[in-house]
Amino acid sequence: MQLVWFRNDLRISDNPALFHSQHNNQASIAIYIATPEQWIKHDDAAVKIDFWRRNLECLHRSLAELNIPLYFFEVASYDEVPELIISICQTWKITDLHFNEEYPINEQRRDHAVQNVCIERNIACHTYHEQLLLPPASVRTKAGEPFKVFSPFAKQARLQINEVDTLTYKPHIQSYIQVPTHAKQKNIEQLQWPEVSSSIQTMWPAGEQVATSNLHHFCTTNLIHDYKKNRDIPSVRGTSFLSPYLNSGVISVKQCWQLATQYCEQSDGATVWQNELLWREFYKHVLIDFPYICKHQPWKQYTDAIPWRNDKSDLEAWQQGKTGYPIIDAAMKQLLTCGWMHNRLRMVCAMFLSKHLLIDWRLGERWFMQHLVDGDLAANNGGWQWSASTGTDAVPYFRIFNPVTQSQRFDPQGKFIRFLLPQLDSLDDKQIHLPNKDKPDSYPSPIIDLKYGRERALASFKTASN
Ligand SMILES: Cc1cc2nc3c(=O)[nH]c(=O)nc-3n(C[C@H](O)[C@H](O)[C@H](O)COP(=O)(O)OP(=O)(O)OC[C@H]3O[C@@H](n4cnc5c(N)ncnc54)[C@H](O)[C@@H]3O)c2cc1C
Repeated sequence: MQLVWFRNDLRISDNPALFHSQHNNQASIAIYIATPEQWIKHDDAAVKIDFWRRNLECLHRSLAELNIPLYFFEVASYDEVPELIISICQTWKITDLHFNEEYPINEQRRDHAVQNVCIERNIACHTYHEQLLLPPASVRTKAGEPFKVFSPFAKQARLQINEVDTLTYKPHIQSYIQVPTHAKQKNIEQLQWPEVSSSIQTMWPAGEQVATSNLHHFCTTNLIHDYKKNRDIPSVRGTSFLSPYLNSGVISVKQCWQLATQYCEQSDGATVWQNELLWREFYKHVLIDFPYICKHQPWKQYTDAIPWRNDKSDLEAWQQGKTGYPIIDAAMKQLLTCGWMHNRLRMVCAMFLSKHLLIDWRLGERWFMQHLVDGDLAANNGGWQWSASTGTDAVPYFRIFNPVTQSQRFDPQGKFIRFLLPQLDSLDDKQIHLPNKDKPDSYPSPIIDLKYGRERALASFKTASN
């Protein structure tokens, strides 16, 4: 009997672990193991965990149509997983375990522990790389080193991706199977799931069909063609909104890449969009090659000497969207109300916190993780370290986005700001970016002078780098 362990790969199509478990018409059983204490340690957002739950319900139904039962288990943390897996394997007489790799340090440790106990019990472990377009350590410079800069990485990755097999894996219907009940087996409703508002749930409908149809809609309408033009405008629905689906594995990056490839000849937009998929790929490879970044360490070690300010009140103003800079406050409100933030604004908010406020980027990284439906260690850490100039191929420390000019450039009439901060709607197109004489009393004054904050950041980075 074959066991498929679902983790961050909540789909049946193009799922190598599922597909290979059915090799030679073998019968498969599927499991999912919830680890609520680990989720808290990892700052996984309630909205993201709830998204997993809803996708698991869909997966349960899709697997049932293939006669593959999906059973649920719960342990507090990863430490308890190896013992649980062994007891499951013994109860169901499992000969082979299949799972798709996860790359952060704690997940790797858990999986090595599982592999070790399986070896001791003669259970074969099969692992696959479904989160990546190209396997770990396969994209290298001529000297055989990991790439530290995005553009040459992307160029090399494109050459290699074009050579890879474009097969996507399809599972088949198997004969009905029945296994003895395991003592720790639960129903999905018996697991500990957080409560989330129905308005957020409506914004992120679950299921592989939704993800696939969103991908097709994005690629077959003007959205992908206009991506280059619209992707930086937060008031326009100009991006794919696929990040939660990609990060929970409801859709695969290969499926996205392949569909976009069909449109590359007709449109720059498709090529630009694929480049974003390559940023995702780049950050995952960086995390694999430099695993210390999983331990809250900056990629550029010297930046640890920066005297980050421990200012609770400024941090809280930023977190709650009360900085007095409308574009920042609107973006932070988008994060709190939607569990998502526009990419341009993620950069603007991250730079404002780490540069103008000189607050440790790790506190911002954590806040994002605690609220994002698409929170992903590699992309979030990569985005924060890029913005804070502490990461690989990061923005140079002296290139600091001014939130007011960014607002004027990417939200010229303040459409995005007005939507998220309706109390500012009466302001004209000039004042909307930095309210002064007509500012409503309810809206805060700026918590920092931008020029002062910028100079303080420049001086701090300069001193740390010497
Ligand atoms: C400070 C900061 C934190 C971020 N945190 C996360 C995070 O936790 N999870 C996450 O998925 N993305 C993160 N990003 C990257 C990016 O903001 C989101 O991937 C994007 O906004 C998701 O929207 P979309 O699916 O509509 O993207 P699209 O523009 O449609 O892009 C398609 C896909 O490409 C990938 N992608 C796009 N831009 C990036 C990027 N800069 N880095 C890595 N992958 C990218 C995503 O998987 C995305 O779904 C972060 C960026 C910054 C600057």
